[in-house]
Amino acid sequence: MDPISPRTRSLEEDDKKYLWHPFTQMRGWMQEETLIIEEGDGCWLKDVDGRRYLDGVSSLWTNVHGHRKEPLDRALKDQVDKIAHSTLLGLANIPAIQLAKELIEIAPPGLTRVFYSDSGSTAVEIALKMAFQYHQQCPRGNPSKTRYVCLSNSYHGDTIGSVSVGGIDLFHSMYRKLLFPAYRAPSPFCYRCSLGKSPGSCSMDCLLEMEKILQQHAPEIAAVIVEPLVQGAAGILVHPRGYLREVRGLCTRYGVFMIADEVAVGFGKTGTMFACEQEGVTPDLMALAKGLSGGYLPLAATLATEEIYEGFLGEYEEFKTFFHGHTFTGNPLGCAVALAGLEVFRRENVLDSLQGKISHLARNLDAFRSLSHVGDVRQCGIMVGIELVADKATKEPYPFGQRMGHRVILEARKRGVIIRPLGDVVVLMPPLAVSLEEIDTLCAVVYDSVRAVTE
Ligand SMILES: *Cc1c(COP(=O)(O)O)cnc(C)c1O
Repeated sequence: MDPISPRTRSLEEDDKKYLWHPFTQMRGWMQEETLIIEEGDGCWLKDVDGRRYLDGVSSLWTNVHGHRKEPLDRALKDQVDKIAHSTLLGLANIPAIQLAKELIEIAPPGLTRVFYSDSGSTAVEIALKMAFQYHQQCPRGNPSKTRYVCLSNSYHGDTIGSVSVGGIDLFHSMYRKLLFPAYRAPSPFCYRCSLGKSPGSCSMDCLLEMEKILQQHAPEIAAVIVEPLVQGAAGILVHPRGYLREVRGLCTRYGVFMIADEVAVGFGKTGTMFACEQEGVTPDLMALAKGLSGGYLPLAATLATEEIYEGFLGEYEEFKTFFHGHTFTGNPLGCAVALAGLEVFRRENVLDSLQGKISHLARNLDAFRSLSHVGDVRQCGIMVGIELVADKATKEPYPFGQRMGHRVILEARKRGVIIRPLGDVVVLMPPLAVSLEEIDTLCAVVYDSVRAVTE
């Protein structure tokens, strides 16, 4: 073992003394070595002792073009030399204007307005509130539409509204008494189908369940909220082809808005700029965050159709204003770096070169399927979930306390790869900038780590 430097030791002590980490049982944290990151470069992270690690989950699904990407760094520095922050309440700023225009140019056709905020959770809250308020005040609305439909296994963020439309019991059930009620349609999760079907013998029966809810309750439902193509936080649950388009059809037929939460899947993660494109879907509201700023800064946006936007127009005394805004809404630094990120997409043909990486990743993943404790391997674009099971035949999970996913990531760390599991699903999601060689390294290390822990 390398001797631990005094600086590292002191940082680790202070971390354990002062910090409270997100989604972390701190008692366990106190017993483990703390890995402290100091620098990044491309798809690599460097810790305080100079050790390098491949960033296998793109710094929690955010990073797109790599760390310290020159055009993004430069955009930030240039913007700092002008102004770091001014408000969008009563004023405008150049990067926020330009980014809104560019987002509308690349978004699914029909989305025409951009409302900024600063996290995926707030982007979702805003979409929920817009759908609700539209119906309260618009002549074409219906004030009894105050409820939502979400999917089981859904994750839309950690604020109260977004948790209310969440469907992951581990994260969400604790808060039930604090939340507003929502209708839950079954998740199209084919490996563990809650309706007992298998892909060969079903015609997306989960859609019939959603349709039943809409048939019975549409007059009180403002919106259906979905994560397009992939339910990320539940364990990279990849939806069957056609599901999203059918949901869009149901929303239209029953007169409810469709909210697409593209916070995880947006900006190339599924192989196209937005996941909705793959099924020719335009949602009524779309939430963006994580990759929006290239993963550099907290920046989010909610995109709306002109119909929804016009539902908020009126005289002052009609009180139709959207009374919502966050202090750092439309922050110029965040918007400037996001613009530079979109420019890289265009100039470097990122989405074109991504296709070869996605199929290279798929070829690498084949080896995992024959491992005796890998139950399912799911991939959509650059997003991967490898589900570990105690028994492959019965799909029996490991006991929760064994923390198999966590043990795998600690093994991977020893071998120079940073990943983060979701329960016993090992997640891989490198930046889009990952090279073919880096994909090989990532997969080889994770393969060895899974074997080391499960065999
Ligand atoms: C991460 C995520 C969120 C929440 O974003 P935050 O920035 O963490 O608030 C919302 N929806 C989806 C689909 C996500 O993956």
